[in-house]
Amino acid sequence: MTDPRAVALLMALRKQGIEDRRVLEAIEKTPREEFVEEPFEHAAYDNSALPIACGQTISQPYIVAYATQALDVQPKHRVLEIGTGSGYQAAVLSPLCRMIYTVERHRPLLKQAEARFKKLKLHNVVTKFGDGFQGWPEQAPFDRILLSAAAPEVPQTLIEQLKVGGILIAPLGKNLSSESFSQHLTKIIRTEEGTTQEALIPVMFVPMLPGIAQEALKPDEKREKHSR
Ligand code: SAH
Repeated sequence: MTDPRAVALLMALRKQGIEDRRVLEAIEKTPREEFVEEPFEHAAYDNSALPIACGQTISQPYIVAYATQALDVQPKHRVLEIGTGSGYQAAVLSPLCRMIYTVERHRPLLKQAEARFKKLKLHNVVTKFGDGFQGWPEQAPFDRILLSAAAPEVPQTLIEQLKVGGILIAPLGKNLSSESFSQHLTKIIRTEEGTTQEALIPVMFVPMLPGIAQEALKPDEKREKHSR
C-alpha cells in the first residue's frame, strides 16, 4: 500500500501543475525514504530538497517531477543523466524508459546509489564513475539527456551525444553562488541545424564541477598510507 505521505505529495504535485500520469505514477512507485540520509527519513516525502553525502543534495520532488515531465521520455528511450547523487531521479526515470545511463563524480555517492538500484531491482539503470562533462561516448547517441547539476551553458560534448530531435533538460545559469536563483531549468532540442533553447522555470541546483572528486581519506586510511 502506498505511504500516506506519498499520497499527500502526489496531490501537492498535481496542484503544482504536474499532469503527466506516467510521471505521477513513477513518483508514486519510488520510495524516496530509500534515497535520503537516515536523519532526514521523517522528511522523505516533504516537497523539498535534502542534504546527502559529499555536500550534495537530493532534488525537490517537484523539480524531479517537472524535469521528468519536460523530458517527455518514451518507453523505448535510452536516457543519459549527469549527476546520479542519491539515485532518486534515475529511479523515477526507470519505469518510464528502456535504459538509464547515469554518471557521478563522487565515488561514495555512486556506491550508495548502486546499492539502492540493486535493492529496488531497477535493472535498467547503469552507472559510471566519471566526469559528466565527457558524457558517455560509448553509449551515445541518447534519445534524452538530463543534467542534475547546473552549468553556465550546455557542454557541447553532451549536445553531440544527443540524437537529432532529442531533448536535453538542464539547469543553466551564470551565477552559481549558493544564494543565487539565477538558474533556469532549460529545454534544449537538437535540430539538424543546431539547437533550440527555451527557459522553463527558475531553479537552484548544485554546480556541475569538472573532473572526478578526490575524496578525503578517512583517518585510518591516512595512517595506513603513512606507515607504508
Ligand atoms: N539526481 C540527483 C541530484 C544530485 S545533486 C538526485 O536525484 O539525488 C547533483 C549531483 O551532480 C551531485 O551528486 C554531484 O556530485 C554531481 N555532479 C556535479 N558535477 C558532475 C560532473 N561533472 N560529473 C558527474 N556528476 C557531477
